[in-house]
Amino acid sequence: EINRKANPYGKFLLAAVCAAGTIALCQAVYAAEPELYTATDLAMDTVVTESIYTTGEDVTGEIGTLLRKIESDWLSWTQEDSMIARINASEGQTMEVPDQLASYLEKVMQLSENSNGALDPTLGKVIRLWDIGGENPHIPDEYELKQLLALTGYEKVHLEGKKITLDEGCTLDLGAVGKGIGCAEITDYLQKQQKITAGLVNLGGSSVLTYGTKPDGSKWQIAITDPRDTEGDYLGAVALDGGEFLSTSGDYEKYFMEDGVRYHHILDPRTGSPAHSDVAGVTIVTKDGFLSDALSTACFVLGQEEGQQLLEKYDAEGLFIDHEGTITMTEGMRQYFHLSNSQK
Ligand code: ADP
Ligand code: MG
Repeated sequence: EINRKANPYGKFLLAAVCAAGTIALCQAVYAAEPELYTATDLAMDTVVTESIYTTGEDVTGEIGTLLRKIESDWLSWTQEDSMIARINASEGQTMEVPDQLASYLEKVMQLSENSNGALDPTLGKVIRLWDIGGENPHIPDEYELKQLLALTGYEKVHLEGKKITLDEGCTLDLGAVGKGIGCAEITDYLQKQQKITAGLVNLGGSSVLTYGTKPDGSKWQIAITDPRDTEGDYLGAVALDGGEFLSTSGDYEKYFMEDGVRYHHILDPRTGSPAHSDVAGVTIVTKDGFLSDALSTACFVLGQEEGQQLLEKYDAEGLFIDHEGTITMTEGMRQYFHLSNSQK
């Protein structure tokens, strides 16, 4: 009797447990299936596109916010209370910078040295004199250029741990590595979000980060622009695994033409004028977002041969395109790059 009475309850309980179990299982399966969120944003003077796979909520907005914060807290020349602006206003006084920024500065200084000054974080005043990509791009007065150039040189930056001192008149500009710092910081952020499984963030086409594996397991494909056909066909594409970073520097990104001469935004620190190596465009792949960006600017200035030597020091891969469109690449780049069909 007792048993029979208990049975209906037992069945009910069993059914309830099963139902709950099924719901939980469904949720688990459902939760394991990441959703793709895409967004376009503006930060660091460029268009940022994002594709993020996550089992959690949409975080694409946070990425733009993070980039704008890096700009306003650290890198901006125009916002008076950014670290760089404060260092530049310090007039030879020693300043202390946040740990994380200090470690980027350390890497900048090391790369300046290793590239014999091809990457020079002190060109800011000269860059602004040319104003390439700004409101009034022009060929500067020779005398004025010479005077400002005399205030530049990476050896005028003294960094000891978190303490930085600039020689008088010298200023810092991290334009060549800003997007790389952005990529590295976004990657840190993504790693802390456990629900994010994979993603790609593209900063204006010139610095790209990949993270994790796409749900279908395929590689991340990034188009490589043809330096002399920037609105037409792509030259090819680079296929990356999550955790690999790509940066491109080219004479077609920001420039003006005068009397048939192309004046672009990457300067040769020796002359203070646009660099004239054998490179029209260079693409770097590394596992470090900062390095990809820093190396692409340095390799553009150094040219193909010296550029490749620098890449060896950093275990980085590079693809160089010269002014005739001829491609040269490091051995390791071959696994990443494939020509587009129209270029074969
Ligand atoms: P992008 O504009 O795509 O970020 P780069 O990473 O090559 O391109 O950085 C170019 C920027 O770096 C320039 O706009 C300028 O602000 C700065 N710059 C130009 N020449 C040099 C140089 N030789 N060393 C360091 N910074 C440079
Ligand atoms: Mg760069």
